[in-house]
Amino acid sequence: MTYDLLIKGGHVLDPGQGIDATLDIAVTGGKVVELAADIPPEGAARVLELRGAGRHVVPGLIDLHTHVANGAITKGVGMGNCDADDIGVRSGVTTVADCGSVGVANLGVFPAHILPKATTRVITLVNAGSYAHTMPGPADVNTLDDINRDALAKAAEYNPGLIAGVKLRVVGPAFQGIGEEIITTAKAAAKDLGVPLMVHIGDFTAKDAASAARRGELTRFLLKTFEPGDILTHLCTPNSGRVLDPAGHPYPEVAEARANGVVLDSALGRGNFGIEVARRQADLGLFPDTISSDLTAMGQTFHSLLECMAKFMSIGYTLADVVKATTASAARALSLQHEIGAIAVGRDADLSVIDVVEGDFTFTDTTGQAFNGGYGLVPVRTIKAGEEFSPGWGTHPWGWLPASAS
Ligand SMILES: [Zn+2]
Repeated sequence: MTYDLLIKGGHVLDPGQGIDATLDIAVTGGKVVELAADIPPEGAARVLELRGAGRHVVPGLIDLHTHVANGAITKGVGMGNCDADDIGVRSGVTTVADCGSVGVANLGVFPAHILPKATTRVITLVNAGSYAHTMPGPADVNTLDDINRDALAKAAEYNPGLIAGVKLRVVGPAFQGIGEEIITTAKAAAKDLGVPLMVHIGDFTAKDAASAARRGELTRFLLKTFEPGDILTHLCTPNSGRVLDPAGHPYPEVAEARANGVVLDSALGRGNFGIEVARRQADLGLFPDTISSDLTAMGQTFHSLLECMAKFMSIGYTLADVVKATTASAARALSLQHEIGAIAVGRDADLSVIDVVEGDFTFTDTTGQAFNGGYGLVPVRTIKAGEEFSPGWGTHPWGWLPASAS
């Protein structure tokens, strides 16, 4: 046999398929053509030999919640967005989902500018609010008129396959009064398009006790409104609207939603990861289905998807858990489980080579609380449909590893 690329000697970890072994991977024409132990290197045009403890090959990582509408939002105004390949193939990630960086009014930036330019696979979820995104300022949806179901349906009709979901942020004063109506209208809009609704919980604007209680009520309403395949994002938020009641018990709707096939995504970001919330949830067995970064241009300066995974490892989740949450489970959340998220013969060769580094690391949650962990994850090589990419320098001034605790 001849191969374009042979990846030899790697510890292949694909928890979605139960693969955890030293295997070689042969790639030809951008596809995986063989996955076996000791594939002879003769005939391979190029051999990538992986040596060293801790070096793993995992399915190309999928970041389920990012912001990559770079160029749609003027730099310095509102929420700066990332370049898809910076946080994609140059960060060990082969697929990113943009979650509502733009509304229907400027959704056209994706097919016109972002998708043609990106090597990383980009999945687009449109904001329910037509003129999103103004973060970190006011909300995306202030009145029901901000959700234009007709325009969304037209956008979907004229751009087949573009819209993979509708995103709603339960953020802002309008939710105090018409929260239920906003949620049901966004759900109806998603249903019109036959796509999932993804909802951001965690309202940093609802600070007083009455507003906080109201956000809790809305989260329960939301969980009851969700249908199988809908996605709750920011599971571990320390802000108002979290899934645990003030005494730290999960609302009963959480288990019901999960049993009904609702996806619980973590999306750490700059505002929605409380370490105490995440630990409490781990104690309760309330694990996130998926781990995502919620990266923005600002977020890029202090974390990465791999660092988000390392944060969950600090709580006690295993490497296999965090890899599954960013491969098989994330693929399923996007209904792409038959295309991505697994290493299998006949599929695109989307692979991430990562180093698992043991050490004494320190992290910070989004409330500023520091916590320690024993693992850092470093991207070594990304392979996207057989094409190789080297990672960039990394998140921190010193590179990819989390900060050293000592
Ligand atoms: Zn986000």
